[in-house]
Amino acid sequence: MRRIVIVGAGLAGHRTAEALRRNGFEGELVVVGDERHQPYDRPPLSKQLLGGQLSAEQCFFPVDTLDITWELGRPAVGLDTAGREVALSDGTRIGYDGLVIATGRRAREWPGQALAGVHTLRSLDDALTFRDTIAADTRVAIVGGGFIGCEVAATLREQGVEEVTLIDVGQYPMPVLGPEAGLRAAQLHEGRGVRLRMDSTVAAIEGDGRVEAVVLGNGERIAADQVLIAIGSLPNSEWLRDSGVELSAGTVVCDEFCFAVGTDNVIAVGDIASWPHPDGDGVACIEHWTNARDMAATGAANLLAAPGERTPLRSVPTCWSDQYDVKIKSAGYLRAANRYVVIEDDADRPALVVEAYRDDRLVGAVVFNKNRAIIGYQRRLASVPA
Ligand SMILES: Cc1cc2nc3c(=O)[nH]c(=O)nc-3n(C[C@H](O)[C@H](O)[C@H](O)COP(=O)(O)OP(=O)(O)OC[C@H]3O[C@@H](n4cnc5c(N)ncnc54)[C@H](O)[C@@H]3O)c2cc1C
Repeated sequence: MRRIVIVGAGLAGHRTAEALRRNGFEGELVVVGDERHQPYDRPPLSKQLLGGQLSAEQCFFPVDTLDITWELGRPAVGLDTAGREVALSDGTRIGYDGLVIATGRRAREWPGQALAGVHTLRSLDDALTFRDTIAADTRVAIVGGGFIGCEVAATLREQGVEEVTLIDVGQYPMPVLGPEAGLRAAQLHEGRGVRLRMDSTVAAIEGDGRVEAVVLGNGERIAADQVLIAIGSLPNSEWLRDSGVELSAGTVVCDEFCFAVGTDNVIAVGDIASWPHPDGDGVACIEHWTNARDMAATGAANLLAAPGERTPLRSVPTCWSDQYDVKIKSAGYLRAANRYVVIEDDADRPALVVEAYRDDRLVGAVVFNKNRAIIGYQRRLASVPA
């Protein structure tokens, strides 16, 4: 291969570039990114960057040794797999021998009218803009109690922001972790002064040009100066629409070697990709940092390997979240679980270990402040036969 084009300058794109060089690729490496930035790490955006412990500069990955041709600030808008070309928004066309699809996801927007003071948080620019609006007396409402919503609530309270309200339709935050961990998380946030509105729909976000309040389905009006919409994400795959690349729920369907199915020179990695996880229903899209890392390593090696020498992806989904002094970690494919068992529960520390089962089969685990325990679960889940 003479030229490999990576579309998407995020974690998965960056890790793939590193792995291609590590595996001996000496040809031209082109990285296309719609953001104006070189690749940076997203987890700190809702934690240390928002909290002021890390600067923007400290979030960037090292790229100097990778000898990359950068095409930044313009999105890819089309792909011609037969002609082996990527089209950019300014009309540039870039030919490739190998292609890496790494365009990740974007934050889901609030469907109502656009108002000043309503934010989403996916990119560095989003995080810096949001951070600049926050002071101790800013009234913040967060719509969506998933990982990002909870992390932002925790970071703001740790920063001394007095009024933080977390709103979600579910009965507890971070529903993917199951009810035991979710209810413990609810206690944690309430104990630290977050106003929780679980089981709550949002009827409207009101304001005259600028946000003034979030109105709940039960009529409660939560006055807010800034609102963060944290209601999940959408795959950035519109540019692939007419390419023939197979999509499932907007994600690129990969085989076990990370190739887009039916291709032998196109891999997909990270949040944009779905792969045949044994506990998934068909293919699974796993939106975790470690999944991007693992797919990048496997996909890059396979892109360079002869067909008979490719190795299948072996990755136990693993995720972490930092909220206050609690390190939350999960291992396994928790969406497959239909039963949770509390193994250890120490509310004072706090520490928690919950196992997740599909009927009688262990499919995952969730821990609070039990780092060593999660390593044990990762090993057990890696050795469980499909
Ligand atoms: C605020 C935040 C906190 C997080 N915290 C954690 C955490 O604590 N633990 C954890 O496990 N995971 C966390 N994650 C998830 C983790 O960061 C993602 O799983 C990871 O970033 C996925 O990497 P990616 O490269 O696939 O996608 P991304 O990081 O989204 O990168 C994709 C890049 O492609 C660009 N792009 C999109 N469309 C185009 C196009 N058409 N042309 C060119 N470029 C394009 C995007 O703008 C982006 O720069 C967090 C995510 C966010 C947003």
